[in-house]
Amino acid sequence: MNRRVYLDNAATTATYPEVLKEMASYFTESYGNPSSIYSFSKGNRDALQRAREQVAGAINADPEEIFFTSGGTESDNWALKGTAFRRHGTKGHIITTQVEHHAILHTAEFLARLGFEVTWLPVDDNGRIDLEELERSFRDDTFLVSVMFANNEIGSIQPIEKIGTLCREKGVLFHTDAVQAVGHVPIDVRSMNIDLLSLSAHKFHGPKGIGALYIRKGVRIENLMHGGGQEKGRRASTENVPGIVGLGRALEISMEKMSFESQRQKILRDKLISGIREKIPHAGLNGPEGDDRLPNNINFSFIGVEGETLILDLDACGISASTGSACSSGSLEPSHVLLSIGLDHAHSHGSLRMTLGEDTSEEDIQYVLEVLPEIINRRRQMSPLWEDYLLEQKKVSI
Ligand code: PLP
Repeated sequence: MNRRVYLDNAATTATYPEVLKEMASYFTESYGNPSSIYSFSKGNRDALQRAREQVAGAINADPEEIFFTSGGTESDNWALKGTAFRRHGTKGHIITTQVEHHAILHTAEFLARLGFEVTWLPVDDNGRIDLEELERSFRDDTFLVSVMFANNEIGSIQPIEKIGTLCREKGVLFHTDAVQAVGHVPIDVRSMNIDLLSLSAHKFHGPKGIGALYIRKGVRIENLMHGGGQEKGRRASTENVPGIVGLGRALEISMEKMSFESQRQKILRDKLISGIREKIPHAGLNGPEGDDRLPNNINFSFIGVEGETLILDLDACGISASTGSACSSGSLEPSHVLLSIGLDHAHSHGSLRMTLGEDTSEEDIQYVLEVLPEIINRRRQMSPLWEDYLLEQKKVSI
């Protein structure tokens, strides 16, 4: 068997062993319900508070502003529906972008079906919105701007601080889906004027099925989950104590490692990008270069090669990567993100996303650079699309 190289850390990460260890006792020993008033549950209430402090510390929020959810999707749904339903029947206007994760896209589409109006901001060829266009999009009835911190497919980081400042000036709430950014790049909700922020533990070595929504003090949004009085009456359901403990500890560890890891991964990322450009003709990098890109993200289009085929070929060599976003792979729809940055269907079908992680080594990068050019070359030799493309290129150069 070949070596195993996991390059899909944007889809999910391995839980840190020390996180798992800390979680374990909350299943088997301190398993009391945090809402119970006897002393057996006190440790659990303390654990929730400690996790709230760990999350708050990572984004410069107050612990009282952190509300635990079942993950990034719920946090995104809560931010959008919670602000919309707070309008008590009055419809209004939301501004978001064409490149959001489906947790935002489909929620905004749902709200549009209920009668809310949505502006879908376009992006440039690097996947970033235009601030002047954002400014022109505000209306008297705009109540929310939701722009993701960093894109899950092509890694583009948005000008969040500038967006936040603009929203604050306009008196409009600003939500950011920071699921791919938390624990990977510095975030300060105060200086960035963020009112609502979504995060998810399994993207920074915590467990799956647990996340949080930061809600700035004073911001009122409607509840999504109705039931008991957990999370100060704002999110019903018995708290997932082991998950919350895992989220808090994983984020604490990620923050300790962040500056070293992001530098290390940036170097590996750029080595892989330049290696691919050197070894594979007609390889198009999707997304920006340098500091506007997530430290761990690489996304290329290889004309003449189907993304799904490429993933299977790489898998046969022990490499786990993805095409499009994890949620839409399996469907043959081209990625909405790649179409939004101006790629045609042929290029967006041949896309490959590789996302590095803490375990990614220099040898892994070398291995990919040995295997990938060979696979692309072999697939292109069999591809009528590649032949057509070469003919087209010849005509242009004559
Ligand atoms: N938002 C972004 C940008 C994501 O990348 C993801 C997951 O891939 C989500 C939201 C959904 O998060 P979760 O899997 O925790 O529901």
